Amino acid sequence: MSSPWLTEPPSSEDRAAFADAEPRPYWPSTLPAREPHPPLECALDTDLLIVGAGFTGLWAALYAKELAPEREVVILEAGRCGAGASGRNGGFLNYSLTHGIENGRSRFPREIATLERLGMRNYEALCADVARLGIDAELEQTGELDVAVAAHQVAELEEGARVLREFGQRAELLDGDATQEEVHSPLYLAGLWQRDGAAILNPAGLADGLRAAAMAAGVRIHEHSRVQRLHARGSGVEAITETGSVRAAGALLATSADRPLVPAIGRRVAPVYDYALMTEPLTPAQLDSIGWRRRQGIGDGGNQFHYYRLTAEDRILWGGYDAVYRYGGPVGPEHDDHEPTFARLAHNFFTNFPQLQGLRFTHRWGGAIDTCSRFSVFFGSAHGGRSVYALGYTGLGVGASRFGARTGLDLLDGRTTEATALRFVRRRPVPFPPEPLRSAVIQLTRNRLAAADRSGRRGLWLRTLDRLGLGFDS
Ligand SMILES: Cc1cc2nc3c(=O)[nH]c(=O)nc-3n(C[C@H](O)[C@H](O)[C@H](O)COP(=O)(O)OP(=O)(O)OC[C@H]3O[C@@H](n4cnc5c(N)ncnc54)[C@H](O)[C@@H]3O)c2cc1C
Repeated sequence: MSSPWLTEPPSSEDRAAFADAEPRPYWPSTLPAREPHPPLECALDTDLLIVGAGFTGLWAALYAKELAPEREVVILEAGRCGAGASGRNGGFLNYSLTHGIENGRSRFPREIATLERLGMRNYEALCADVARLGIDAELEQTGELDVAVAAHQVAELEEGARVLREFGQRAELLDGDATQEEVHSPLYLAGLWQRDGAAILNPAGLADGLRAAAMAAGVRIHEHSRVQRLHARGSGVEAITETGSVRAAGALLATSADRPLVPAIGRRVAPVYDYALMTEPLTPAQLDSIGWRRRQGIGDGGNQFHYYRLTAEDRILWGGYDAVYRYGGPVGPEHDDHEPTFARLAHNFFTNFPQLQGLRFTHRWGGAIDTCSRFSVFFGSAHGGRSVYALGYTGLGVGASRFGARTGLDLLDGRTTEATALRFVRRRPVPFPPEPLRSAVIQLTRNRLAAADRSGRRGLWLRTLDRLGLGFDS
């Protein structure tokens, strides 16, 4: 059987299910309201400037204060803290720094054992930090369940389990019946339950908790303060916003898929939009009809895949499948709503859980993913080494952003660690070509990935990318 998705076009019932959904991320609605931090309206001098208050920027601020409490740290955030990808993602926390072992091994074969160890250590430290800082992130260490929904995906799960075990992890293979017993969907042919290093959490809760912890540690935060320009000044850098400026000895750029502040980022990062729906809370009877007692985050097989999970309120977040790149890579709130994608997502949701027909979606949203050609965080510097950037997580940054933040700051401060010596940290990804070729290459790759899902075979284009070290097999 090939992919079960979209054998028929979305129906009017599929569209009605999300027609009244609020066009904004669900997660911030779970937080108490707060006053914004004031925008920057003066000229400041500081030791460390951090641009961007997502996970990367906030973890970096906390690490800077942990290393040297007297160091002055200023964060400039274009919108609200955590309003970028960090507050609107699926909330899947995974230990991997490399977007999976296979992706890491194919690019960094000599370092993969170290990267796996560092990734697991980062995951455990993140969970410990959340507890130590008293952050209410609704963290549940459930593990992750990958499910096969097409025959060729069963062998992929078996191979995935073998690789996880090779690296010392507990990976449980489930046949069709056992998978359906865990979670009741008629589509499941097999499952792989990754027991270690995977959790679900409320991402806005995590971002807001990190913000509060950074404030408590003495970090100065300005929201609604977009850095428009950054340049070298004296022995440091200067950042200019609409109403102020900051001079700093060094800057950490944690700007993800947003407009790049240095050209090297723009060459290597393509903003690709990912979309998600959130259901209303399920009734006990609806919950009974799907099982899912152990609440694992779930991902289905295929290059175009869905990710889905329960929330603390027993809603279901259902996202993924489409990945939308627009010519020139624009980023902004006008791209957060995308009806054709929501229609496909709703249709596929009811194909996966036909027993939930009639359930309504209350929120729909999208967000930009900082896609790079190696699918994992990379680092680089500008302004004579006084600015360092850490970005490129390509959709798996909830866990890796803590590593990215700390490693980025180590590079900026000139500290040598086990991580900073790695090629993984020292090397940057192959740049994307400029437009119009960029769009053409990305669209072609998307089409070929979708075709591979239908046929179960990687065609010539994908195999060529694989040979060049640019391939991706999710
Ligand atoms: C829909 C979606 C679902 C996802 N699901 C998952 C998941 O389940 N698991 C997972 O591991 N990863 C997931 N990701 C990826 C994950 O969310 C990101 O990798 C991670 O949040 C990146 O954090 P960040 O701090 O680097 O970026 P962001 O959270 O995007 O933060 C960057 C911040 O920089 C600010 N900024 C940008 N430019 C400027 C400027 N010039 N001046 C001032 N501020 C600026 C932005 O406003 C933003 O707040 C998902 C992403 C999306 C979009």
